[in-house]
Amino acid sequence: MSTAPAENQVENQAAGLDPLVSFEGADKVYNSGFRALDPIGLRLPRAEITVLVGPSGCGKSTSLRMAAGLEPVDSGRIRIGDRDVTHADPKDRDIAMVFQNYALYPHLTVRGNLGFGLRMRRVDKAARKRRVAEVADVLGLGELLERRPGTLSGGQRQRVAMGRAIVREPAAFLMDEPLSNLDAKLLVSMRAQLTKLHDRLGITTVYVTHDQVEAMTLGTRVAVLRDGVLQQCDTPQALFHRPANLFVAAFIGSPAMNLVEADIAGGEVSFGGLRIALPPGSPLRGLDRRVILGVRPTDFEAAGPVTDPGLPRLRVKVDVVEKLGSESHLIFPVDAPRISAEAVRAAHDSEEIDDGVLLADDARSQFTARVDGRFRVNAGDEVTLALDATELHAFDCETGVALRGRAAAQPAAAVA
Ligand code: ATP
Repeated sequence: MSTAPAENQVENQAAGLDPLVSFEGADKVYNSGFRALDPIGLRLPRAEITVLVGPSGCGKSTSLRMAAGLEPVDSGRIRIGDRDVTHADPKDRDIAMVFQNYALYPHLTVRGNLGFGLRMRRVDKAARKRRVAEVADVLGLGELLERRPGTLSGGQRQRVAMGRAIVREPAAFLMDEPLSNLDAKLLVSMRAQLTKLHDRLGITTVYVTHDQVEAMTLGTRVAVLRDGVLQQCDTPQALFHRPANLFVAAFIGSPAMNLVEADIAGGEVSFGGLRIALPPGSPLRGLDRRVILGVRPTDFEAAGPVTDPGLPRLRVKVDVVEKLGSESHLIFPVDAPRISAEAVRAAHDSEEIDDGVLLADDARSQFTARVDGRFRVNAGDEVTLALDATELHAFDCETGVALRGRAAAQPAAAVA
């Protein structure tokens, strides 16, 4: 299965938007001869947060470091604003970077850390003081200005690191996994603060993370990379509802999309002894072929008295129940062979699917359904699930490219 991006994806993304940072066919081969990034075309719109996401080693940090000028570009160009900065020094690019290790100066106070860059740029004392006070106010660091980094919590240190970048008033922030050292609770709160901060300052931000949930929460736009190849760049909604290929489909969304080989013909999809009529608006109507079918766990519900009687139903025997409080995940076998090893790899790269490990000696496909946490069910129970079939996904069995019936063709941005 190819890792190539869907046709025209690179050209189409962010079309019509005013880009601040642009990669124009920029690529990277390290001295070892390893190609970390294929020529990439990516336009990152002004005042948005664009998140670069993908599994470890896919080239996210390399791309960011190329934009920052920390990694030379092999061919192609990088632009910031209307300047070609392909060969410009990092200090001449009008960007500020925030890394996962905060790299604060331990011997300086918060005030000293915030003002350090301005001092180096010989900004006069009064202006420096004013800028530091403004940024401390924005980030809620006012009370901490005289403290040293060693006496701060992880979240506070991260805010100082952020403040040090903001104080310089750069054209763009480049952030490489800046929140990955924080514990889960703090992480959620820092993500929310970051979004608020961005809403307030509107500074163009390029943000690298391996975590698709973080990407979807923070990104105005998300670029998914795999093995140095851009797969798709679009809004979180578009990536979720209209993934360009199997990899994006499996990578985005938690729990991950269920995948199974299926046949579509005569307005019906069939797999594992099940036959489901495609509803009138389904993008899969008009297809007549074997496909890899994708079903989001969230498109199932436990069938009950208020369930739409028009929805197709499945009677399943639940192997595992994961009770998460507000929702439960039901894992059940579907009597259809597992999809190909390469498709499984695409899914496993998502780091979300563990059915291969859980039930490795079962050759059948495993599905996950997300149901209301109040639904009473235990492992071994038989339950009836209803499936909303309006958003089923289909992919080519060889290339993994998303398929749509002729009648359904419409631009990806339509769901944004
Ligand atoms: P992670 O989330 O693990 O940081 P990433 O997507 O940011 O991954 P990069 O750091 O961009 O990945 O690396 C992309 C690929 O390039 C990896 O396979 C990595 O091993 C390789 N690579 C990175 N730096 C170098 C280098 N200096 N020399 C040779 N190969 C490198």
